[in-house]
Amino acid sequence: MKLLLKGGRVINPATAYDEIADVLIEDGIIKEIGSHIAVDNAEIYEAEGLIVTPGLVDIHVHLREPGLEAKEDIVSGTQAAAAGGFTTVACMPNTRPIIDNSILVAGLKHRAQTEGIVNVEIIGAMSKSQEGKELAEIGDMLLNGAVAISDDGHFVNNARLFRAGLEYANIFGKRIISHAEDENLSSEGVMHEGAVSTRLGLVGNPSVSEDIAVSRDVMLAEYTNSLLHVAHVSSKNAVDIIRQAKKRGVNVTTEATVHHLTLTDDAVIGYNTATKVNPPLRSQDHVDALLAGLLDGTIDAIVTDHAPHAYEEKDVEYRYAPSGFTGLETALGVILTELVHTGKIGLMQVIEKMTYGPAKVLGLNAGCLKVGGKADITIVNPGQEWTVDSRTFYTRGKHTPYEGKKLKGRAVATIVGGKFVMKNGEVFA
Ligand SMILES: [Zn+2]
Repeated sequence: MKLLLKGGRVINPATAYDEIADVLIEDGIIKEIGSHIAVDNAEIYEAEGLIVTPGLVDIHVHLREPGLEAKEDIVSGTQAAAAGGFTTVACMPNTRPIIDNSILVAGLKHRAQTEGIVNVEIIGAMSKSQEGKELAEIGDMLLNGAVAISDDGHFVNNARLFRAGLEYANIFGKRIISHAEDENLSSEGVMHEGAVSTRLGLVGNPSVSEDIAVSRDVMLAEYTNSLLHVAHVSSKNAVDIIRQAKKRGVNVTTEATVHHLTLTDDAVIGYNTATKVNPPLRSQDHVDALLAGLLDGTIDAIVTDHAPHAYEEKDVEYRYAPSGFTGLETALGVILTELVHTGKIGLMQVIEKMTYGPAKVLGLNAGCLKVGGKADITIVNPGQEWTVDSRTFYTRGKHTPYEGKKLKGRAVATIVGGKFVMKNGEVFA
């Protein structure tokens, strides 16, 4: 089986490569990257005018399996990933049951390998049932395929427990991913605390709740000399705390979501529950700080925090709606439209933050194009115009703050292990 991707603009951030070139794939492996590759009996894909990149990597998604299949499952979630151009996703453990032991990790990994159409990495819980009381089987999970440990969805209030988790995961060279939020401060807040929350009469969640939590976690990582990843950073002071920590040599990484980079709390005006998310959409000064953090390397990765819910769960009054919305199918288009076509960030850097950057954070063998390496590749049409319509989504989550938005640029083909899993928006199961 030979496949030749012909004449595309090949961008590979890991080697700062940006050239018009052909890519030859044989038996699922990248065989050659170069100009005018001549080969017999290969399937040809004309990539002229298109961008050929490493398959996109998203290290923060919720696939909802096991137990919450009304929201999403491995099949629908990985189809959504393929549709959006992602070839590798890492899923969070806040399922039912919580993924907090090695049997569950192995079971989910097996399900993902048999049912998933893209690569799925598993993140194990830090505490048993994510209750923040007792450590989960961290070592066992990491030895059985988990790539990181997190109580995402909850802040681990007990600093002693968090410290123990950091030290334990560090033995295995893996990161603790922290959901940084002082829950006493954020309390009943349903949106960012500021002028807009006051105007709308909604209870605010102050950014300082994130700042305090990020400070604590960074200090514990520094004190124990261990590996920390801060999930979905959204506040300007938190970005700066991480920037300063990196300068001191703390081994901390962080990510920003597509929505925190491109939307403000103005989106909440109208009380559309598709804008409710945690951490909340913040004001422009915070959005600007995230972009600055992305540009100067403080922020290592762009993620979706894809968090689908069943339609009726979100179809309630704003304060009762669950946090989170779907993101895999809109991420690339939104980032290209809002950040690249506007000149705020270069194409190479954006692709780095969606491939090699996140792969490096979790130590995944993904996110780069390498001769002899697995052919996980995304083909992007940067100029294709389209309108977000959740009825066409593969994900079960139909809520998105970008509904009806006109975008420019999207993935037109997704290749996993040398095989097309998506072409022109159509996913092959
Ligand atoms: Zn979270």
